[in-house]
Amino acid sequence: ARHFLDRAQAHPELGAFLAIDEAVTLAQAQAADARLATGSAAPLEGLPLAHKDIFVTKDFPSTAASKMLAGYRSPFDATVVQKLAEAGAVTLGKLSCDEFAMGSGNENTAVPAVGGTTARPVRNPWHLEHVPGGSSGGSAAAIAAGLVPAATGTDTGGSIRQPAAFCGITGIKPTYGRASRYGMIAFASSLDQAGPMARSAEDCALLLSAMAGPDGKHDSTSLDVPAEDFSRNLNDALDGLRIGIPKEFFGEGLADDVRAAIDAALREYEKLGARLVPISLPRTELSIPVYYIIAPAEASSNLSRFDGVKFGFRAKNYGDLNDMYVQTRSQGFGDEVKRRIMVGTYVLSHGYYDAYYLKALKIRRLIAGDFQNAFKECDVIAGPVAPTVAWRIGEKSQDPLANYLADIFTLPASLAGLPGLSLPAGFGAGGLPVGLQLIGNYLQEARLLNAAHRFQ
Ligand code: GLN
Repeated sequence: ARHFLDRAQAHPELGAFLAIDEAVTLAQAQAADARLATGSAAPLEGLPLAHKDIFVTKDFPSTAASKMLAGYRSPFDATVVQKLAEAGAVTLGKLSCDEFAMGSGNENTAVPAVGGTTARPVRNPWHLEHVPGGSSGGSAAAIAAGLVPAATGTDTGGSIRQPAAFCGITGIKPTYGRASRYGMIAFASSLDQAGPMARSAEDCALLLSAMAGPDGKHDSTSLDVPAEDFSRNLNDALDGLRIGIPKEFFGEGLADDVRAAIDAALREYEKLGARLVPISLPRTELSIPVYYIIAPAEASSNLSRFDGVKFGFRAKNYGDLNDMYVQTRSQGFGDEVKRRIMVGTYVLSHGYYDAYYLKALKIRRLIAGDFQNAFKECDVIAGPVAPTVAWRIGEKSQDPLANYLADIFTLPASLAGLPGLSLPAGFGAGGLPVGLQLIGNYLQEARLLNAAHRFQ
């Protein structure tokens, strides 16, 4: 813990940490040492890790990288945080992310990072002028730079997989409902899912074994499936594994450097005994409009709780109660968050609900069905995580649509609620990492981790 605290504070230029509290971390590490000395160690005893600042923690501030929650302290720990602590993990601090997890580059952050005085984008350790991906960009950057051995992330539409790809690490978004959402600051509740990020699939398996499991008391959408040992078949041979290759993931728009790295990775899989099967996910393109209707709709509802009364920030000067709401929300939320609230409110409004929101829900169901058809022919699906390597900071920050389009390959599995994993698959332009995405059927995380582990 001492080593990682020093390293984290030696690299403020990355902007990865939003909170560090040495006294809290060292006390946890000492307690772990004491348990190790008595031989009563838990599976992750003493492992230092950090949490995306979308998980609430009682020992550190919880901000979702928003001015709306700057300095906010939760009275309780998120279930995932609590489970990792019970497994022996030591918390190094809280990691930056896009505000309320809305973004693909970790440029939308409104809280200053540790060692800084103004809010600024997180940087990619492979190339400081590039984004680390988002929204779990702080988690990915911190792991890639060796500031933490592992971290938590959340993935609503790609926020674990895409930053893992951009930073050359491994991350898995489990099946929707695998891990409890209790204490995860809500973005889009029917999509939000917690998962581990680490250097390897093996590390992710160890973490996921501690994070997963039902939470009937606090999250009614958590699946009633007992936690598993996700490490159990990491070393199984891949002979005969049928890897589906969706043609829609390899069309126009996929950058040549990414395509070359993915093709090379797929050839490696053939050498490992897998068979590549051409498949189709015909509604891949529709996943962008569908997601960018459903996610903002849910966000507009979830974010209504930030009204200047219950949590965090309240504007200083206001007239009546209504003006207090208006001033607080106008000053407290960043541009991207406001954009989502406006889109969400619009698509849910009377007269547009049927035309947009309901239609999006129906197409979402068809997208999930397309995957079930595909899984008749293959065991896992492989393709790129993102169409390009990490872009330059600022390149897309004025263009929301350009950000949304870059999510095309991660959104389908999110809408279907399927598990998806990103593993490093070589390098593209500028020496920046490329991620290979593996998508599995429901509850097939162990198979994805096995396939990733054999590659690594
Ligand atoms: N980039 C997507 C968005 O901005 C996904 C974010 C996420 O998964 N949290 O909504």
